[in-house]
Amino acid sequence: MQIYADNAATTKMSRLAIDTMLPYMDVLYGNPSSLHTPGQKAAEALFSARETIAKYLNCEPREITFTSGGSESDNQAILSAVGAGARKNKKHIISTAFEHHAVLHALKKLQKQGYEVTLLDVHENGLITPEQVKQAIRPDTALVTVMYANNEIGTVQPIAEIGKICREAGVPFHTDAVQAAGHIPIDVKAQNIDLLSLSAHKFHGPKGVGVLYARKGVPLTTLIEGGAQERGRRAGTENIPAIMAMAASFAYMCDRIDEHTEKLTALRDRLMKGLGQIPRSILNGDPTRRLPGNVNFCFEGIEGESLLLLLDAKGVYASSGSACTSGSLDPSHVLLAIGRPHEIAHGSLRLTLSDENTEEEVDYIIKSVEEVVERLRAMSPVWQDLLAGRKNYVIKQCKNYAQTLN
Ligand SMILES: *Cc1c(COP(=O)(O)O)cnc(C)c1O
Repeated sequence: MQIYADNAATTKMSRLAIDTMLPYMDVLYGNPSSLHTPGQKAAEALFSARETIAKYLNCEPREITFTSGGSESDNQAILSAVGAGARKNKKHIISTAFEHHAVLHALKKLQKQGYEVTLLDVHENGLITPEQVKQAIRPDTALVTVMYANNEIGTVQPIAEIGKICREAGVPFHTDAVQAAGHIPIDVKAQNIDLLSLSAHKFHGPKGVGVLYARKGVPLTTLIEGGAQERGRRAGTENIPAIMAMAASFAYMCDRIDEHTEKLTALRDRLMKGLGQIPRSILNGDPTRRLPGNVNFCFEGIEGESLLLLLDAKGVYASSGSACTSGSLDPSHVLLAIGRPHEIAHGSLRLTLSDENTEEEVDYIIKSVEEVVERLRAMSPVWQDLLAGRKNYVIKQCKNYAQTLN
């Protein structure tokens, strides 16, 4: 069996997305900035894609800017809000300790330039409270940026409540919605969102294309200078094939959110229940306020990389955290942010399902993880110390996935 369970890293492009792209590569290849007929056809297509995305986010087409993906949108959103704030001498930014590196590294750079960054503590369940945001806001706050859904532990933040607080305080609010878009409903108006990032390859669209939504009146700073594309906010000839595929994919996924949520939640809960039976395992992130397809566990006495390699040999393709941090020896900053000790954070496993996964696959994953964990523990000196009582277990032994730390 071969099971792809790493949909938070990237998703397979849908047939719809591929079929939508193709004509814009061979027959409809015009440049939307050209005045001739092929150019104008491309310009019309581009506008229809903008309308589609806007409809599903509940905003105006002119509030949509096409970018190269989530990382670019995050960077442009942050630099834009900070640039606008600096003109009013506001140099304070509020975010959380478990954002994606596209946000955290951008903030780190700003910190070096003299900005003050408050990173809110994330509770053990992987959530922050609107109250925390409210208390952190100061007269000089230029931006609040809080991710919609976490890419490692899948927890979904109270975005509408945070948006309301920011709007009342007059502080621009950005959310990295890359993991949420196409998977859970988004309404930028109702949720008082000023800036939002999304990326097509996380919802079965192509890689290298995304969206930055900016509410009318929220100015954008350009990262890329050049032509007047995207109303001067992002120069460069538009990636029409990818943009068309993204719009089609987004519409398809948004129309099926209820159906997919029902199916995925059942699979996710089955997987959580199964993995929760493994001794000394602990679920990361709130059991219900999480993405429908996200499961994330730590196993005591296990090293995440070995777990992944042995699972790969069984045809189970998973991750230990985010694709961006694998390869480094540091444990996940997300797991540290929710208070997992280093030795536990090292033994993490993230499984992220798509609507193509089945119950049989979930059962195969459970069986494979059980076998691999047992095998690795049999070889682990740390586990032998724990068994012999020379060391104390960090994870309490419980009957299901509502386990806690000692
Ligand atoms: C994948 C991801 C990104 C980066 O998106 P790219 O399109 O790969 O640049 C940003 N934020 C989150 C939460 C993500 O999951």
